[in-house]
Amino acid sequence: MTITRRSFLSASAAVAAMPVLGAKAAPLPREADIVVIGAGAAGVAAARRVMAANRKVVIVEAASQIGGRCITDGTTFDVPFDRGARWMHNPDTNPMIRLARSAGLDVSPAPSGQKMRIGRRNARAGETEEYLAALVRANRAIDEAARGKLDTSCASVLPKDLGDWAGAAEFVLGASFAGKDLKELSAIDKARAQDRNAPIACRQGLGTLIARLGEQAPLVLSTPASRIVWSNRDVSVETQAGKIAARAAIITVSTNVLTSGAIKFAPDIPKRTLDAASKLGLGSYDHIVLQLPGNPLGLSRDDILIEQSNSTRTALMFANIGGSSLCSIDVGGSFGRDLSGQGEKAMAAFAKEWITKLFGSEAAATVQKTAATRWNASPYVMGAMSAASPGGQLSRKVLAEPIGNMFLAGEATHETLWGTVDGAWESGERAADAALRKIGALKDEPADVPTQSMKKRRAPRP
Ligand SMILES: Cc1cc2nc3c(=O)[nH]c(=O)nc-3n(C[C@H](O)[C@H](O)[C@H](O)COP(=O)(O)OP(=O)(O)OC[C@H]3O[C@@H](n4cnc5c(N)ncnc54)[C@H](O)[C@@H]3O)c2cc1C
Repeated sequence: MTITRRSFLSASAAVAAMPVLGAKAAPLPREADIVVIGAGAAGVAAARRVMAANRKVVIVEAASQIGGRCITDGTTFDVPFDRGARWMHNPDTNPMIRLARSAGLDVSPAPSGQKMRIGRRNARAGETEEYLAALVRANRAIDEAARGKLDTSCASVLPKDLGDWAGAAEFVLGASFAGKDLKELSAIDKARAQDRNAPIACRQGLGTLIARLGEQAPLVLSTPASRIVWSNRDVSVETQAGKIAARAAIITVSTNVLTSGAIKFAPDIPKRTLDAASKLGLGSYDHIVLQLPGNPLGLSRDDILIEQSNSTRTALMFANIGGSSLCSIDVGGSFGRDLSGQGEKAMAAFAKEWITKLFGSEAAATVQKTAATRWNASPYVMGAMSAASPGGQLSRKVLAEPIGNMFLAGEATHETLWGTVDGAWESGERAADAALRKIGALKDEPADVPTQSMKKRRAPRP
């Protein structure tokens, strides 16, 4: 049976390298009003906001391309595929869709086919209904638990009688939504996350979009920030190519990069900030892309398929991407983390094994080229998307608190759109407004901006 996209994906991550388009790799400037660290969605949004306020900005990016977790690979196969984020959700509110259109890119709703597989056959209508009912009950239990005082794990509050659908529900709500198994996921964080409905695809790729949007921003690529000297008045960002003196910095690196110590701070950033980042560690989510010419699986364009599973060794398939012969087998959570740790060969072997289980060995034998992402091993990201550990939901607010003249942004700082491109984008704009206000380039100070100045640090939460 075909499930409606809304019902299926409202509970899933709806998940998802084109080279930089025309980005100008400038020599490192010596000064700017605001330095942005990182040219992912948050960094590009922040830089555009600062430019719109007529202040001097520069983005310092460690990788050799714009995009961060939005990278479109335009060379491995004959059609582009997104190595990171793939879908824009909630078209009524998602700014990325308007931006894509105004950048001249083609956006279209992904067709609405989703399928549930039970071994070698499709689920019957009644079985699909049972699955959807189990998903609704699991979601409701998490929402109810989130209203309580304790921020507990999603797994601990799941109904015990989900029967044959427990595995699929856990996969869709945990590994596939947030890159973490439900036992590692805060019920409050999950309950506050905005539904990810009505996915929209960008034909040229979401990575292409972010690269396009960043193309006018002054930018230095392949230049990791190694040390930031900060105070309440100014900042100095150090790289191997020299230093940039600025009045403020916007830092958009992932929580795992922040806690890795790859960027040193002088003085140290508050322990409270680092604790918050470590409670928002990145989950694991990867795409294993197979070229399957001739549609041997008999699926439609952009079909999404999951299976009735009784273990974490499972996946989500996005088939015939954009009408091409590419199928992405997405793995996440603890299983995805272990698998990606074993390397691309093991990932491709799993994908073929999974297809054999669900469609037979003849289908798996038609696989031509394969490619796999390994976001945990990506040195400047170190994972997929932030997900609060049980007890950790409050950390998102803490992470967004200014530190002297430094402003943290990125998907992890968004309370409801964490783990998304639009969440990262909004967080970048918000941090830019706060930084512009701090340097006197914007006037209206909101009433309740939390601050964390050098003089007055709050005690870390227990
Ligand atoms: C496989 C996968 C699928 C996903 N699917 C979707 C989806 O379908 N829809 C959706 O909305 N979201 C999806 N997401 C999530 C989305 O990609 C992220 O939430 C978003 O792109 C994060 O943007 P960001 O700017 O916060 O961080 P990043 O994109 O990580 O940007 C941070 C930047 O900082 C740079 N950096 C790191 N260290 C340094 C340093 N020392 N100096 C300078 N620069 C540095 C990095 O190179 C990077 O470019 C997915 C993510 C993954 C991994």
